[in-house]
Amino acid sequence: MATNREIMNEKSSPKYKICPSCMYFCRIEENDNYCLRCGTELLDKCPNCNNSIDYPYAKYCKHCGNQLPGRLAMVNNNLKEF
Ligand SMILES: [Zn+2]
Ligand SMILES: [Zn+2]
Repeated sequence: MATNREIMNEKSSPKYKICPSCMYFCRIEENDNYCLRCGTELLDKCPNCNNSIDYPYAKYCKHCGNQLPGRLAMVNNNLKEF
């Protein structure tokens, strides 16, 4: 039988939702579904492999190597500002 302690251990890996349009992110246990900065629907997992996002600044999914949307868009936005 699984002990209570094993269930508690799942807390040790924080997971995040990220905004595909800007660099906003929040913890997955906050019930935000949309970015509070730009209104875009938040991603709580990699769109390519459906693994959860456990590092909010990651540019690539560590499970499949897919480039996460929005992580590089920040650079483009800065260029546009001239
Ligand atoms: Zn956003
Ligand atoms: Zn992935």
